Amino acid sequence: MAENDKPRTGFPRPLRATGHCRHYRYERGDLLSGTGPCCAREVSLRKLGAALACMPTPAADAYCPLRQEYTAAERQMWKEFGDALHHRIAQAIAALPAPIPLNTSGHVPCPNCEGGELYYARWDRGAAIQCNTENCAGARFSIERGADWPAKPEEDA
Ligand SMILES: [Zn+2]
Repeated sequence: MAENDKPRTGFPRPLRATGHCRHYRYERGDLLSGTGPCCAREVSLRKLGAALACMPTPAADAYCPLRQEYTAAERQMWKEFGDALHHRIAQAIAALPAPIPLNTSGHVPCPNCEGGELYYARWDRGAAIQCNTENCAGARFSIERGADWPAKPEEDA
């Protein structure tokens, strides 16, 4: 991406068009707040296995008459968003100090967006990165104990 093409305002996130029924969503929360699988059409998913009908390619005995698929165009937009996000994450990793010293954190200018700061933290067996521009790049990584991360770029011999 050329310098002057970098977006300033974030990366619009399209509809999360997966293989699930389009009425299905999953809300994360604690055990007491009644979160979990939800249906936007108010079909109860509380019974064990009820959410099977919402999954991609459900079995014939998990039939929901209200099921609706995402369109091919919606799924394409979601896929392109995911592909672009993976590319931004790769660019972000390439912009980090290599390797990041253990138990440190910091930030560098984000290579993907105009004015964004890319925050990073490294601890034993893990690391996390997050740009402060909406939907730009963020990820957590498991790292083998003792390994350098990111790996030092190859020196030209
Ligand atoms: Zn960014």
